[in-house]
Amino acid sequence: MTRKSDNDQLSFTSGRIKKIGILTSGGDAPGMNAAIRAATRSAIAAGREAVGILRGYQGMIDGDFIPLQSTDVSGILQLGGTMLKTARCKEFRTPEGRRRAKEQLTAAAIDAVIVIGGDGSFTGAWVMSQECDIPFVGIPATIDNDMYGTDYTIGYETALNSVVCAVDKIKDTARSHGRIFFIEVMGHEAGLLALNSGIACGAEVILIPESKAQHDELQKFLEKGYRDKESSGIVMVAEGDEAGGALHIAEQIRRDHPDLDVRISILGHIQRGGSPVARDRINATRMGIAAVDALLNDQKSIMIGLDNNRIVHVTFNKAVKMNHSIDTGLLEVHNLLNGM
Ligand code: ATP
Repeated sequence: MTRKSDNDQLSFTSGRIKKIGILTSGGDAPGMNAAIRAATRSAIAAGREAVGILRGYQGMIDGDFIPLQSTDVSGILQLGGTMLKTARCKEFRTPEGRRRAKEQLTAAAIDAVIVIGGDGSFTGAWVMSQECDIPFVGIPATIDNDMYGTDYTIGYETALNSVVCAVDKIKDTARSHGRIFFIEVMGHEAGLLALNSGIACGAEVILIPESKAQHDELQKFLEKGYRDKESSGIVMVAEGDEAGGALHIAEQIRRDHPDLDVRISILGHIQRGGSPVARDRINATRMGIAAVDALLNDQKSIMIGLDNNRIVHVTFNKAVKMNHSIDTGLLEVHNLLNGM
């Protein structure tokens, strides 16, 4: 990981890159638009052209490009989703697909590409950059916040707040009826969203893929905590929990404890949408500028990251191959506050 000494200071030097393509790929995340806007405007400020590549790698293969002027990215900062659309593209996984993509970039005179997405998108960029001389720089955007080498990914803060708002509402009805709600949040292999939203909402139990011990805490809560207090309960479940999603776990609990009033709520895609919160807008803006700065300083095959709130460069190699670990110490905080 390289820390930039002149953090957030721009020094656009390379004369080689004249036209920069920008795309969003994989799952959408709130704040992607802020990154598109920042990358577009900083490229223009540096005397370069910006081009939007529609629908991620699919648009690259199809040559679906739109020129981006400063005014084209007006009014998008506060919008969720991505103005460039996104897609998952099987064809790009093949050498033939990537060859077609390279031909389209060459025909449009696009010299470099900024990829806003998750580790799959960076893997694709990395593979293509080994086959041709187009430099790629990545900006991490995924609501899971599970990328190695960066404390933060675009969209996470908004998704966290969306989950907290939804769970606060569910708590009202849970309390009124004395019910136990199993609430499933996104996170296939990562429990950060479930962990932090569980703490922010005062959930009774948090089940995440990174900790098996929490299933004992669930049993303790069902057998003692809930019955002693005769109250209600919120169990946050990351969708990737090894015991299965909320549906599977709750069905098991219903079988084992038929007297309990168990309900399930799968928050689903509501977590991805909505206007990005201020932190996502600010960080996405910083990362958009940093990506252009990196390209114009002859960097390639790197992801822009944030380490202790400072911009860093992380090689694609590390960003996609190394695992992201989460601070499970937060689970101890949670268990302490829940008297377990
Ligand atoms: P999310 O975190 O939302 O899943 P992601 O960027 O990880 O985002 P993926 O669906 O894994 O999303 O990847 C996005 C696209 O990147 C794929 O549809 C494919 O086009 C490309 N891609 C992923 N892996 C590879 C690979 N090994 N080789 C070439 N292209 C790839």
